[in-house]
Amino acid sequence: MRIIILGPPGVGKGSEAEILVEQFNIPHISTGHIFRELFQQDSPLGKIAHEYIDRGELVPDDITNQIVRHRLSQPDAQNGFLFDGYPRSIPQAIALDQFLEEKGWQLDAVINIHADDELIVKRIGGRRICENCGRIYHIVNNPPKVENICDTCGGRLIQRDDDNEETVSKRLEIYHRQTEPVIDYYEQSGRVIHADGSQTIEKTNQDIMKALGEHH
Ligand code: AMP
Repeated sequence: MRIIILGPPGVGKGSEAEILVEQFNIPHISTGHIFRELFQQDSPLGKIAHEYIDRGELVPDDITNQIVRHRLSQPDAQNGFLFDGYPRSIPQAIALDQFLEEKGWQLDAVINIHADDELIVKRIGGRRICENCGRIYHIVNNPPKVENICDTCGGRLIQRDDDNEETVSKRLEIYHRQTEPVIDYYEQSGRVIHADGSQTIEKTNQDIMKALGEHH
């Protein structure tokens, strides 16, 4: 399966992605996660990306596309993948189309998870992320078994620096301006599944799985 998940920040893309990649046994490719890892590793690219991330802006398309092209060349991506947080702009969607064409691949599904800005702003304050493996939690809706400790790796849970109120409203504004047009881009080829992200993680997953079943 080759899947992309679109949606505003904090809508649950990452949480849904974590479940879907298990269900389909495909790698989870989150550009945000890759950028955060590069920054932790002190890579020059990571440092550049961090400046944009800190401001709640998109990392420039050429850098992002370069990272995706490299990621898609890895052995584990040859038989399927799930993109979480890419493409986030029309130029990125066009670049992805080109990568897919070069490989002779097609997307099986484009999933758009939606929710109101108000809910997102409320939810994002409770988001926590494992500083070691990047797994996502929410203090109320999706808490870890032991407070502040990752169930998967035992890492410490932290709040992302860019999950503060000011940066979130900037990210939402950019989402509406630069990323929402990507939904229309895929809609033109009739390939979009719309899921309601205001529900529980499990319910949204059930809806997505049902739609994927009808899709094929
Ligand atoms: P995420 O973890 O998906 O919320 O991404 C965190 C931040 O990384 C975003 O706010 C952007 O600054 C940057 N980022 C992630 N994916 C992309 C992308 N496809 N294009 C540009 N910037 C991105």
